[in-house]
Amino acid sequence: MPTGPKDRNPERPKETGRFGPPGSGINWLLIVAFVVLTVLLVQALGTSAYQEVSHAEVKSYIERGLVERVEIGSTQLVVYPLEGAEDDAGEALAPMRAVRVAADESLVPLLEEHGVDYRGLADPGCTGGLMMLLFLPVLLLIAFWIFMFRRMGPQGHAMGFGKVKARLYAEEGIKVTFDDVAGVDEAREELEEVVEFLRNPERFHRLGARIPRGVMLVGPPGTGKTLIARAVAGEAGVTFFSISGSDFVEMFVGVGAARVRDLFEQAKEKAPCIIFLDELDAVGKVRGGGGPMGGNDEREQTLNALLVEMDGFDDRAGVIVLAATNRPETLDPALLRPGRFDRQVLVDRPDRNGRCAILRIHLRRIVAVEDVDVEDLAQQTTGFVGADLANVVNEAALLAARRGAEAVAMADFRHAIERVIAGLEKKNRRMNPIEKEIVAYHENGHAIVARALPTSDPVRRISIVPRGMGALGYTLQVPLDDRYLLTRRELVDRICGLLGGRAAEEVVFGEVSTGAKNDLQRVSEIARRMMTEFGMSEAIGLVHHGATQRPMFLESPEGHGGAGYSDETARLIDAEVRELVAYCHDRARRILLHNRTLLETMSRRLMEDEVLEDEVLDAFLSQVMPLPEDEEWAREHRAGKVPVSDVAGAEGSVPPNAPPAGPVTPGRLTEQGSGDR
Ligand code: ADP
Ligand code: MG
Ligand code: ZN
Repeated sequence: MPTGPKDRNPERPKETGRFGPPGSGINWLLIVAFVVLTVLLVQALGTSAYQEVSHAEVKSYIERGLVERVEIGSTQLVVYPLEGAEDDAGEALAPMRAVRVAADESLVPLLEEHGVDYRGLADPGCTGGLMMLLFLPVLLLIAFWIFMFRRMGPQGHAMGFGKVKARLYAEEGIKVTFDDVAGVDEAREELEEVVEFLRNPERFHRLGARIPRGVMLVGPPGTGKTLIARAVAGEAGVTFFSISGSDFVEMFVGVGAARVRDLFEQAKEKAPCIIFLDELDAVGKVRGGGGPMGGNDEREQTLNALLVEMDGFDDRAGVIVLAATNRPETLDPALLRPGRFDRQVLVDRPDRNGRCAILRIHLRRIVAVEDVDVEDLAQQTTGFVGADLANVVNEAALLAARRGAEAVAMADFRHAIERVIAGLEKKNRRMNPIEKEIVAYHENGHAIVARALPTSDPVRRISIVPRGMGALGYTLQVPLDDRYLLTRRELVDRICGLLGGRAAEEVVFGEVSTGAKNDLQRVSEIARRMMTEFGMSEAIGLVHHGATQRPMFLESPEGHGGAGYSDETARLIDAEVRELVAYCHDRARRILLHNRTLLETMSRRLMEDEVLEDEVLDAFLSQVMPLPEDEEWAREHRAGKVPVSDVAGAEGSVPPNAPPAGPVTPGRLTEQGSGDR
């Protein structure tokens, strides 16, 4: 699975403006609090004006009759001299303190003898400690308070201090234009209109046309939503305020909402401009659907603020709100009504021409050999989104640099594609010979079965070099065209191909390994969807049993995630799935038995070379003998006779370019995972 870089925002806008006055009342308040506390503490510890003397001196003052009163603690004496008493130097005596010598038992008799008043003294060390204890919570509170202010950034809202200041990203002079975006022509056309509004609003106002307030960009991750939003700002030459959904949702209730309000306030001052709300699903989820944990108050407040703001500004203000999401179905319907995000623009996966164009854009940035076959690269990258393609080009440049080459060659691109599909090669991971043999037969099983089936995509490469994510080997099949619709026959053939690996293990070793886990997972998914979603089983009929995506407020409380069919139907579905898979399994086995010798020679070669591709692979695969019935079907099919039962599409259910099951895999990869060990 390709994993593009997490942050798809190459030039993260720098923070150019913090809003609101810098440094509000908070700092002063803290300083005052600290001063007061320190004074209190100093007093509490009693380090005030006592004169320090020795125990012996105290006794001598008593003997000389200068003392009025003594307080005796367990560790100290506090001595109050008589009024007007003077010391040897003739200066007036101040109250004194001495560390008490505990062993001296003559003190009390001495005091009584001289008629000095004395009393016990609660330990001052102890009082100090007590005072500390009293103030400790206060100190902690203050520390916590400071901590919170730091965390929240300049945001005194929660305590009612300071002005609310949203941490915004305002960008001027964006250089990105529509020339940097390709393969999403429909979106581009729609947005060109928005650019026109921003450049020349008068033209529209004159005719009384209302400029749309919000445009929602909808599409899978990495298709260039963020990029195209920036391009709109770049083309129109306006300020670009962008904030991501996760920025709204912060710790204190009301902060997100405050940010929304502040954002719109700032934007109105800068009009004409664009406000871009990235990853809107973070706040835009259907309200009141908090689930068992209760609603998310913060998110709701933020969303409400957003709705209010979007209603609140005049469409003459020249502020256009763009938003991006890859999960439009989770958005609150209130967001999508006219006057808010009334336009939705699909930013879809690019088709082959689109991929060519995107590759060309990214090729501009690197030094490549003259004859880069962009068409071929586009063909090998079915299902890739813009971010994946950018990644491929960059990986290729890295590989070439590591080679020490002058320019990026075609082979680098080919390896980069593989890397994006299958993860990094783990050259230093050694498989033991037995494992290697199993993997070799397994992968060749996939390849031979796929080749023998009339509707399968061509096999481009077989590898048993271990890769990241636990894959020990893979068979890469690349479709010739982008597919939007798949027939029943094609799905069945696909299942057969996926079972080819396991079947080869059985045929050759009479024993199976854990390596088919991933294959089986995909087999079950395809088969199940054929029964429950595509209506491809006669016994089950033309009923959709899959999970429907309905807005939450329509859902009955008990029907939450319920399957929506009876136990009987569930049993029927299971039976049909099992039957189909068993049929496919048997077919894969028969194909392999039919091609047993080829499987042997091919696997021996694969163990030696570790990779089979190009002419070597083609030479092997051209020897594959299809089953007689498949040959006949192919003959009829070529003659234009398509058996009626074969034309069962899944119109509308299959997202463009998506294989019928699971997440969209660029190319098609039959991997042998290491399984659970
Ligand atoms: P999204 O916001 O849809 O997840 P991004 O706009 O962040 O995707 O795309 C990430 C990167 O991928 C872009 O910066 C760009 O380099 C590349 N990219 C994505 N789509 C396209 C495209 N249609 N044309 C050119 N480059 C693209
Ligand atoms: Mg994005
Ligand atoms: Zn496999």
